[in-house]
Amino acid sequence: MRSVITTLTSEEFAGRGYVDNGMQKSAEFIANEFQKLGLEKINDSYFQEFTMPINIIKNAELKLNGKNLKYGEDFIVKPNSYSQNFHQKEIYYFDPMDYSASLRFESAFIDFIQRDMVAQKGKHIAFPPHEFEVDSLNQYYKHWASFYKPEENRNRAVFYFSKDKLIASLSQIQDSIAEFIVNKKYYSKNLSIDNYKIESEFINDFKSKNVIGKIEGKNKDSLIVITAHYDHLGKVGNVYFPGANDNASGTAFLLNLAKYYSKNKPKYTLIFIAFAAEEAGLVGSYYFVENPLIDLKKIKFLLNFDIMGAGEDGIQIVNSSIFTKEYEKLNQLNSKNKYVKQIKKRGEACNSDHCPFYEKGVPSFFTYTLGGAGHYHDPFDKGETLSLEKFQDIQDLFVKFIDKF
Ligand SMILES: [Zn+2]
Repeated sequence: MRSVITTLTSEEFAGRGYVDNGMQKSAEFIANEFQKLGLEKINDSYFQEFTMPINIIKNAELKLNGKNLKYGEDFIVKPNSYSQNFHQKEIYYFDPMDYSASLRFESAFIDFIQRDMVAQKGKHIAFPPHEFEVDSLNQYYKHWASFYKPEENRNRAVFYFSKDKLIASLSQIQDSIAEFIVNKKYYSKNLSIDNYKIESEFINDFKSKNVIGKIEGKNKDSLIVITAHYDHLGKVGNVYFPGANDNASGTAFLLNLAKYYSKNKPKYTLIFIAFAAEEAGLVGSYYFVENPLIDLKKIKFLLNFDIMGAGEDGIQIVNSSIFTKEYEKLNQLNSKNKYVKQIKKRGEACNSDHCPFYEKGVPSFFTYTLGGAGHYHDPFDKGETLSLEKFQDIQDLFVKFIDKF
């Protein structure tokens, strides 16, 4: 477990994303593990290849108030940003107080918008951090750039100063605007934007692949499918996102189950799928359900694992309040053997690779662990921060559960 996580989170794998062949190397590594464990191929291959559009942020730099900021820690850029080098320009400070006040009267609001449209012309835009819980203000922040024509945004940048934790993400489109999200501690009403740079590349047909293996059971008519995405966010400049908890841990969990069942013949045939490109919007799993290598109707149950590195506070399961019979079974096993503190219920949520299957009517659970260091989509999600304390217990619980079908 530990060694799989160490390998997948190493700098060599470059955050298992879109630079330095990170995702490709990870796929090869997993297929090699499948081979060692003696998993069967499907259609003579462990791979299902596909292409996808992706906007790759290759590098991003920002020097503010004389200080070079650190990517992932002090700032990130929006994943749909296009390439842009620094332009010397005045800064327009958006005024959230003024905006919120204007919401009281329609005429005041129209007046505000008109002033905003004139004042922003040809300038960089700074959005101050704000504490208002006004939904329309948050929407305004979010969509601001799209109110203006691409030409107006082309040679300037937008700087959002945020009180929230910086969460990096990916985009499958490229817009004609450069947007920075900056930790609020760097905000002042007297900003000096000294330098910045975004280097991005849009690739329409980036090659990715899901990794699939099979262990035949005593009963071949029905399948139990075990899934985990192996990709993560990649690397920006020299900062890479290790993605230990998300989801080197789930990949290791899947490999451990494969190892167990390679020595203990399962009742039903097991299909193991390590998905690519989950972080770009469940791309690998959507591709799979549209181009299935197995009969989806034969799937008795699907178990998806994403974020498996903690568990001190138990586990939570998306879809458990829908598939109540299965939930009760799992809960009973847990009450009897005390594997984890609790199994928290949750309804449906399209937040990981179970979702495309669930939408096709496949009964499924998505399990994630609770507790731990809480690093998420940042450069600090490192292997050494995972306790893995409950890892074996959680595996034992799911082996019992799978054997109960
Ligand atoms: Zn994930």
